[in-house]
Amino acid sequence: MAWEITRTVRVRLDVPDDRKSDLHATNSKFQYCANHTADWAWRYPNEDCVTSKSEAEAAIYDDLREETDYLHANLVQKAIKRATDDISNCVDRLADGENTSKPEYDTFSIVYDKRAATYYRDKVSLATINGRVECAYDLPDNPDDTPHGEYLLNDDYDFATSTVHYDSESDEFYLHAAMERELDVARPEKAEHSRVLGVDCNVDDHIAVTSTGRFVGNADYLNHNRREFEKRRASLQQTGTPRAHLTYHRIGDRFGRWSEDYLHRCSKAVVEEANQQNCSHIAFEDLEQIRDRISDGKKFQQWAFRELQQQTKHKAELAGIVVETVEPSYTSQQCSKCGTTLDENRDEQHFACLDCSYTANADYNAAKNIARKLALKLQRGQKSPAGGAFCQYALKSGVMTVNATEVASDQYVSAERESTDKPTASAVGS
Ligand SMILES: [Zn+2]
Repeated sequence: MAWEITRTVRVRLDVPDDRKSDLHATNSKFQYCANHTADWAWRYPNEDCVTSKSEAEAAIYDDLREETDYLHANLVQKAIKRATDDISNCVDRLADGENTSKPEYDTFSIVYDKRAATYYRDKVSLATINGRVECAYDLPDNPDDTPHGEYLLNDDYDFATSTVHYDSESDEFYLHAAMERELDVARPEKAEHSRVLGVDCNVDDHIAVTSTGRFVGNADYLNHNRREFEKRRASLQQTGTPRAHLTYHRIGDRFGRWSEDYLHRCSKAVVEEANQQNCSHIAFEDLEQIRDRISDGKKFQQWAFRELQQQTKHKAELAGIVVETVEPSYTSQQCSKCGTTLDENRDEQHFACLDCSYTANADYNAAKNIARKLALKLQRGQKSPAGGAFCQYALKSGVMTVNATEVASDQYVSAERESTDKPTASAVGS
């Protein structure tokens, strides 16, 4: 059973000077259609809003085409769809008791599918109010290892419905190309049995620790480089010369690339581990909920965690592995062997259970709890938890299967036979 993945690549378009106004005029008409659809479909609070694209099309498509001097039929349809999709999201928010208002369209953004655009690997031909305009892509000289090389120029990916944007500061147009690929792996959500790899992320010591005892990356090293970079940048800012200003930006870019690359190697190691252990799922803690734990809510560390999770998700997708998050409470205070939860169990990097005397690296203990949490969640989500499919989580000593009793009570029913050896260290950065 195949499934699809999509990647968005941003590429600058080389628009001929004498055709820029055609794109702007096209965007005005696209906005006109989207705004008029929103006006027509938004009926809150007196009536139900219209969220069906076909209902909106039946009612206003002909008028919109006439009013826009026959803007390309597919662009009118896409504008209607954009407004009804947005209103549908608004309706969901209202249902959740959140505040929202009628969507309005005033920024440059046009939706192009394959009927209003022809996509090539080096250029795109776009429908405008004044016939087609052909725009070459501004590609990097060496596209290997860039998103352009990896997706845009890769024949494994096909173009899907994309958007064209305009940056007024630089007076440049950009294509946000949606690249789609069909993967020949079973859709993991549908797998009968699941096996979870738990991953604990940290701001010091190792960046990621898996439930199988693999230690990935060095957070202290990442933070150290960040501090050195900040120091260097601060002194350049004080210098204040134009040359210092240039260097300031250059080292910023370089550090950005370096740290992204570092996290790429870490996420690769996590996915490798999941693959080796035949895992169908990777579990992280929900980032929104661990913010308090990140020292001073530091932006860089939040960025690094988000980046690591995002990159892991992208790489995992290609391997047919699902990344999910679990709610983080007590993952570091609970004993992964007997389930006892005590604040005193954890002392910095050392975990020692006051009840059963189990001792382990604290992050490793947490990773096992994270794995177990997702395995329980998956087991609960099954139609008949008692029969058939089973949910497991991967540990250094083998796999644990969560059973129905455990799911019902969330109690540990069997003590895990786990050695207290130091887990094996792994390759990245340590
Ligand atoms: Zn214990």
